[in-house]
Amino acid sequence: MKAILVLAAVILLPAAAGPPAAVPRPGWSWPLSPKPAVLRAFDPPDKPWMSGHRGVDLGAMHDGAPVTSPASGTVSFVGMVVDRPVITIDHGGGLRSSFEPVESVLTAGEPVEQGQTIGTLQPGHCASLACVHWGVRRGDAYVNPLEFVTDLRPSILLPVSNAAAVSRTDPAGRADTAVLDDG
Ligand SMILES: [Zn+2]
Repeated sequence: MKAILVLAAVILLPAAAGPPAAVPRPGWSWPLSPKPAVLRAFDPPDKPWMSGHRGVDLGAMHDGAPVTSPASGTVSFVGMVVDRPVITIDHGGGLRSSFEPVESVLTAGEPVEQGQTIGTLQPGHCASLACVHWGVRRGDAYVNPLEFVTDLRPSILLPVSNAAAVSRTDPAGRADTAVLDDG
């Protein structure tokens, strides 16, 4: 009998001690000001060798606009990648942001604060429009940068009896979801 109880405890332990699912928490700031339009959305390829869009393109007021760090971190790379200037910030926790085409006077190893200017936008990524390409990697996997500045999770989780009332009294819905302005 004792052996059975011990076995039960061992089987139940992993479920009881399991950590909550890692859900990205918004809290980063936009790397451009004012709040930019998303000119091209995140479109990761199915396979690493396929083409896709491993980040988002954010519309800037003009070329030369200041680009700011969306969260605190450490500069991990500044330099040319093929033909374009890139700066990468390591935010800790396996998360890194890269911005291009952005020229920076910072050097690898420098700490940066959230909102600190890290470089100036160069022309070229969005043809005639001024835009910055922002990529975020978690480890080696590209993730959607908008997860960190907008809340892409289901907006309201309510008991069914309350949900109907909310839908009647809140016809406007959420105004601040990710607007994919294709233009
Ligand atoms: Zn892009």
